[in-house]
Amino acid sequence: MISRILPSSNPTGRLSTPALIVTMFVLAMSACVLALVVWKGYDARRNALAQSETEMRNLAHSLAEHATHTIQAADVVMDDIVAFLRFQPFPDRGSFNARLREISDKLQQINELATLNAKGDVEYASITPSPAINSADRDYFVYHRDHADPKLRITGPIVSRVSGQPVIAVTRRLEDGDGAFAGIVIATIESDYFNEFFQTFNLGAGGGITLSSSDGKVVVRWPPTKDGRDLSKSQLFESLLPHSPVGYNLATSPFDGLTKYYAYEQLSRYPLVVTVARTEMSVLADWREAVRSDAVVATAVLACIVLLAAGLAVQLRNRERFEKLLRERDARHRLIDANIGDVVVVLDGQGVLTFVSMSVETVLGFSPEEMLGRVYLDMMHPDDVAGLRSIGKRLPHAPNGLRAEFRMERADGTLVWLEANFRFTRQDDRPQRNIVCTLRDVTRRKEMEDEVEALNSRLAEMARTDALTGLPNRRALDDFIASEFEARQDLSVLMIDVDDFKGFNDHLGHHAGDDALRQLGRLLAGTAAGAEGFAARYGGEEFTIVLPDTAMAAAIGFAEELQAAVRALDIVNPSATRGKLTVSIGIAGKIAGACDPATLLRCADIALYEAKRRGRDCSVVAPAYVGDAGSLVPDAATRTGTPA
Ligand code: GH3
Ligand code: MG
Ligand code: MG
Repeated sequence: MISRILPSSNPTGRLSTPALIVTMFVLAMSACVLALVVWKGYDARRNALAQSETEMRNLAHSLAEHATHTIQAADVVMDDIVAFLRFQPFPDRGSFNARLREISDKLQQINELATLNAKGDVEYASITPSPAINSADRDYFVYHRDHADPKLRITGPIVSRVSGQPVIAVTRRLEDGDGAFAGIVIATIESDYFNEFFQTFNLGAGGGITLSSSDGKVVVRWPPTKDGRDLSKSQLFESLLPHSPVGYNLATSPFDGLTKYYAYEQLSRYPLVVTVARTEMSVLADWREAVRSDAVVATAVLACIVLLAAGLAVQLRNRERFEKLLRERDARHRLIDANIGDVVVVLDGQGVLTFVSMSVETVLGFSPEEMLGRVYLDMMHPDDVAGLRSIGKRLPHAPNGLRAEFRMERADGTLVWLEANFRFTRQDDRPQRNIVCTLRDVTRRKEMEDEVEALNSRLAEMARTDALTGLPNRRALDDFIASEFEARQDLSVLMIDVDDFKGFNDHLGHHAGDDALRQLGRLLAGTAAGAEGFAARYGGEEFTIVLPDTAMAAAIGFAEELQAAVRALDIVNPSATRGKLTVSIGIAGKIAGACDPATLLRCADIALYEAKRRGRDCSVVAPAYVGDAGSLVPDAATRTGTPA
């Protein structure tokens, strides 16, 4: 019985090979994706920081340039004014004011341009009317009054006493011809001038731009904060600037306490420092967004991998099951193949063996490999090839296949009888060019059939043979005469009867009688054979010889020779008149159109009867008959032999 294959269970709870492969695959892929994301993130962070540093340094440099140009314009103008006033200390107020106004209008960054006298009062001014204010208390005024320093001084932010707006004061000392303090020239730049410029840069939340004096005092800051903050104690002014006029570092903001990246640059011409700050958060904002996107993509990729892996696991598991089923089926086929008595072969259109089952080893002694590729007709017994060719021709018209028996030579040289069923292979109910053939060893059956046939023919022979003498019996005689009667024109029949045989038995015993009959049988058989005749035991001590193609004269001669031969046997018969075994013979010949086999025998028997009547040990020929066979009676029996 073929058991149904159940899906394999996993009682140990361990992972099956496909599950293990898939798990390892998922882990490896996850690790790869994770590593890729981390590496890409790390690299992107480094790039983001490097790019930010470059941008911030560039921006700090640009802003420093901008501040330089802004201050430098005022510086040049003030330089001219200082020089002019040195040679012409008291120019016409109206025209000089107009000149200052003209300069102030041309230079957008300069809000107010004025000179103060040594008491701090406005002497000349770009604004009309000249403001009546005193600035003697201002730090820059005090500094210039007390220091014979011709260099430009920048102060700020301070609240303008003219506009009330925060401004940066750019000042220079004025001296009279003796070098004594004569006042100052002042140009104010509104803090908003820088603020409007600074705010055009997007530095992200928490970012800022600071313009400080070299001693650490905040001059302008964007976004605006409490003015005048002192940064002189910060890391920038205490430790960085003394070493390098430009730089970049990460520090805590003195404004809001956030951790920020700073790019700074000290103006080369003026005592100002530009600082650009961005929070770490904003510097890395794009990077964070990219990392987030990467994480989303990676998660999606991993999800896809897991889904694919799950699908793969199912596929692998199905495949494993399928392979197991195939292996089991294959093993089952092999088992059946190895144990079944029948051989299955497949032939292609040219009669070449393309498949041979393993059972061929048992049947023919060849391995399947030895058979494959051979033409099957070449392996047949030559006498059977024609029959098999005819099968091949008829097969296309035999949807149910054809049966044949033929002989093949086994590997050991002996012949094997095979019974074969040929049919075209079918696939999807369509006939193919290949022929499938099942072969069965029927040698034993054939042998048994031969034995039975031999036995039957022996039995048939026995049924037609007399057991005592070995001569054909009465049935065989009847058949022979029946067949010969029509075929032969001349046919003579001799009915032979042993004379006084009862007495023989009585005197010498039945056993001796049997011996005598056997001896006589051999003589009759030999004699009949010499004349191409047929000898049979008719029954008891009576025999018949049929002589085909023998006319009466020859038959008479044959009978006489036979009688002589019997006598020559010299078998003693004490009850016979002549003391030895003799026979009487009745002879009849075929009369064309006038008799049949039974009549012929009957005539011979009548002639025999006549021979007995005439004294035995003689031959009598049946007379010619007239009339129908049933009324025939011996008319004039002819005695032929002369008793000795
Ligand atoms: P006749 O000359 O008139 O033929 O005399 P006969 O004694 O031969 O004839 P009968 O018919 O009276 O006897 C035939 C005998 O043949 C009787 C029988 O015992 C004997 N006989 C017939 N068949 C056999 C046989 O098979 N073996 C032996 N031993 N004797 C047989
Ligand atoms: Mg008799
Ligand atoms: Mg007799």
